[in-house]
Amino acid sequence: MKKNMMRFLAGAIAAAALAVSGPGCQAQTNPSKKLLVVTVTVEYRHASIETGKKVVEELAKKDGGFTVDSVATDAEMAAKMTATALKNYDGVIFISTTGHLPLPDKQGFLDWIKTGKGFVGVHAATDAFHGGGVDPYIQMIGGEFQTHTVARVDCINEDTNHPATKNLDKTWQVTDEIYFQKNFYRDNVHMLLSLDKMPGGSQPGYFPIAWCKKYGEGNVFYTALGHTDEMWRDPKFQQHLLGGIRWSLGLEKGDATPQAAKANN
Ligand SMILES: [Zn+2]
Repeated sequence: MKKNMMRFLAGAIAAAALAVSGPGCQAQTNPSKKLLVVTVTVEYRHASIETGKKVVEELAKKDGGFTVDSVATDAEMAAKMTATALKNYDGVIFISTTGHLPLPDKQGFLDWIKTGKGFVGVHAATDAFHGGGVDPYIQMIGGEFQTHTVARVDCINEDTNHPATKNLDKTWQVTDEIYFQKNFYRDNVHMLLSLDKMPGGSQPGYFPIAWCKKYGEGNVFYTALGHTDEMWRDPKFQQHLLGGIRWSLGLEKGDATPQAAKANN
């Protein structure tokens, strides 16, 4: 009995030590995650993609929690994004990727996310696999680009605790190319940023800007911002994106419960 108690105490002490050194206080000097930065485009190519890639590389260096590798060409996509090669990574970030991307095994890629990997989509990432029925990729990311307008908008911060939005005020005013999404269902996602009126107008409405969601065990984060170089260089946008990356990689915790589901509980 005494021996059992000692063993129990030893276990409890070890568990407490683990809790102290757990993910919440992870040593940032020792990168634990590997993020693949994907910048391949088949259709429209944003001029800001190269800036975006540089910014993500800078953020990785500053943060220290993850390192980056890149897929910039069709050949690199064929080599680094097979189901087997993806096992080398903990997550991907799609920077304004457009069109029917030449993924060597799209279903294998989606299944890989479902095993608990991170997916970060920026701006035109919802313009990939766009058109002609609802693609499984669109179901994974949670929205599909429909059209856009350049406007100065007030983004409403719907979760001031989430890593992607905790550094933003309740309202964040930005000027960017604003997306209208289709095949987006608010009940399926956890909203982070939205608009309550038509971009560039005053008619009331609901327009999603950034959200996160689970995909199997995977963490999906998407922000529609990031059209211009100026946006990529905005420190607030960088904090927003870095929070989303860290959350998707499991470096930081954040709620992904759809708000509608939460309201019913
Ligand atoms: Zn754009």
